[in-house]
Amino acid sequence: MNTPTMNHLDDIEVDLSEMKALRKEFHRCPEIGLEETRTAEVIAGHLEALGYQVHRGLAKTAVVGTLRNGGANRAIGLRADMDGLPITEQEGLPYASKNPGIMHACGHDGHMAMLLGAARAIAERRRFDGSVHLIFQPAEENCGGAKMMVEEGLFKLFPCDAVFSLHNDPNLPFGQFALRDGPIMAAVDEATITVHGRGGHGSAPENTSDPIIAGASIVMALQTIVSRNIQASDPAVITVGSFHGGSASNIIPSDVELVIGIRSIDPVTRDFIEKRITEIARFQAESYGMTASIDYKRSYDATVNHKAETTFLRAQAVQFAGAENVSDLDHPLMGSEDFTYMLQACPGSYFFIGTSSSENTVSLHHPGYDFNDDILPIGAQFWTHLTEAFLAPAQQKVAKAARRYHE
Ligand SMILES: [Zn+2]
Ligand SMILES: [Zn+2]
Repeated sequence: MNTPTMNHLDDIEVDLSEMKALRKEFHRCPEIGLEETRTAEVIAGHLEALGYQVHRGLAKTAVVGTLRNGGANRAIGLRADMDGLPITEQEGLPYASKNPGIMHACGHDGHMAMLLGAARAIAERRRFDGSVHLIFQPAEENCGGAKMMVEEGLFKLFPCDAVFSLHNDPNLPFGQFALRDGPIMAAVDEATITVHGRGGHGSAPENTSDPIIAGASIVMALQTIVSRNIQASDPAVITVGSFHGGSASNIIPSDVELVIGIRSIDPVTRDFIEKRITEIARFQAESYGMTASIDYKRSYDATVNHKAETTFLRAQAVQFAGAENVSDLDHPLMGSEDFTYMLQACPGSYFFIGTSSSENTVSLHHPGYDFNDDILPIGAQFWTHLTEAFLAPAQQKVAKAARRYHE
C-alpha cells in the first residue's frame, strides 16, 4: 500500500476502531434503496449519542444530523449514501452480507462509516462557527433518494451554504483526491424498444416478418449515433445491454425487445440522442415492414459541480493532502450520481478519493468488491478539516471573497 503523507493526519484524531466496527456492521446488514431502516437506526443512534439533533423521515429512511456551534449563520452539508445493491456477495469475508441477494458493493458502507467518524471528531473538537448538517441519503443506486429529499424540503429544513459528497474509487491511487469544475458524472437514460413483426415457422420466413433481423439492424444503426452524429469531443455512450427474442431455431418470433442505456453530458446532446434513437428504431423497423414502439425513460441528470465550491474544495484538499495527491479530472466520468439533485438546489462539489489496494482489485458493483478500510481515517479527517475550514470565522471572509472573485 502506498500511503501518501497527509499534512493534517496528526492534527485530527479519529476513532478508527469505531469506524471499522460501524463499517463492518453496515456491510453485514446491507439494505436496498428506501428500505434502509436498520441502517438508519444505527446512524441515528450514533449521532444522538454524539449530541447531534437528529431528523428522520425525508425520503422514507434518510437521517440528517445537525450540530451547531457559535453564532454564525453559515452552514455546511456533508452527504453520504446509504443503500446496498441487489448483488449476491461472493463468500469469504467474516462480515459478509447476511441479507441474501443484497450487498454493499459500491462502498456506501464505508462512506457512512467515514461520515460518522467525522461526526465524532467534529463534535469533540468543536472548532467551527455555524451549523453542520450530516446528510445520510437513501436510494442512490436506483430510485433517486437525493431528488426525493430535495423535493421533500431538505434545504428548506436545513439551509446549507454548500454541500459536498465523495465517492471511493478503487481504480484511483490510494489517498488521491480527484475533482473537477463543471460536469463530473454523466446523465443516464434508458430506452426500451419493442419491434413488432409477425412470427411463424422457421422454415418459411417468406410468410413472416422476422423481428430478429430488424432488431439486429437497429443495434447496428444505433452505433452510428455516437460515431457519426455527435462531435468527437462531446462524450456520449449508447449500450444495448439486453436483446431478447425467440425461443427455438425453428420458430420466428413475433417480437423482440432491446433495452438500451444512454449516457451523455450536454443536455442538448441528451435531447438529440433521444430523437435519433426514436427515429432509428421507427424507420429501421418500417424498412423491414414492421413497427417499433419505444419507451424512453429519463433517469439522473449529469452531475455538475459549482466553480467556487470546487475551488474551495481543491484548496482544502491540497492543504490537507499535498498538491501531489490532488488532481483535476480532465474529462467527466460516464457513471452517474443522484447527488446532482442536491447540486441543482444548493452550491457544492462532488469528488473522488482513491482507495486502490493490492488485496482487492475488483471494481465497484462486483460481487467480490470490499471497501478499503485503510481510507477510513483519511476520509473522516478530511471531512472534519473541510468543515472546520468552511465554518472557520477567520476564513469566512476569505471564502466569500473567493466566491465573489469566481462568480
Ligand atoms: Zn454504485
Ligand atoms: Zn456508489
